[in-house]
Amino acid sequence: MDFLFPPQAQAAVPIAGGTAFFPVHRIYCVGRNYVEHAKEMGWTGREPPFFFMKPADAVLPVAAGTVGEMPYPPMTDNLHHEVELVVAIGQGGKNIRVEDALSHIWGYAVGLDMTRRDLQAEAKDQGRPWCTAKGFDFSAPIGQIHRADTVLSIQQAPIRLDVNTQTRQNSDISKLIWSLAEIIACLSELYTLQPGDLIFTGTPAGVAAVQRGDLLEASITGLSDLKLRIV
Ligand code: MN
Repeated sequence: MDFLFPPQAQAAVPIAGGTAFFPVHRIYCVGRNYVEHAKEMGWTGREPPFFFMKPADAVLPVAAGTVGEMPYPPMTDNLHHEVELVVAIGQGGKNIRVEDALSHIWGYAVGLDMTRRDLQAEAKDQGRPWCTAKGFDFSAPIGQIHRADTVLSIQQAPIRLDVNTQTRQNSDISKLIWSLAEIIACLSELYTLQPGDLIFTGTPAGVAAVQRGDLLEASITGLSDLKLRIV
């Protein structure tokens, strides 16, 4: 096939213990999936899961043992961190049943759903889309992906984010409102999932602003840490 100009490079994330890269198809994100965070964002009761997306090339892959660099984005004065477990889909499908859902997972990684909170608040007030608040360049830092069968107990694993060595977010994956299987089942009713899809599964309480120069250290027990400097 002839292209008018060279296509953009495929967005990809490194794999733990391998040289191949995970090619990213889409990035789905779940809103308000921990009760204490939902409360801090104005939650009033159990609600169905809801989703938003980031472009695939918003990924900012950070190799294990290195510190990634995220440029502070333009048009915001309130850039927030949201540490999240990321599910990497290896087998696609639609209308996936909850009981089959975990078999569609290739692996897991630590991710940050970086958010322009001021633009999000404005979008909520005006009933407008969240795209500029959530889907900007470098808005999806992610650590290396671990194969699911090498991760022993991801559904009960401490999740934490430190900023400049001070703990900001500290919870456990077991506190997800919607489980990993329920998220995949739900999402697959709305979209045909494909190998290469990433799902950011929601953040626990404690979201707050970061500044240029801050060092973010995100961790989930059993996965490689994600280290990121805001520049
Ligand atoms: Mn989030």
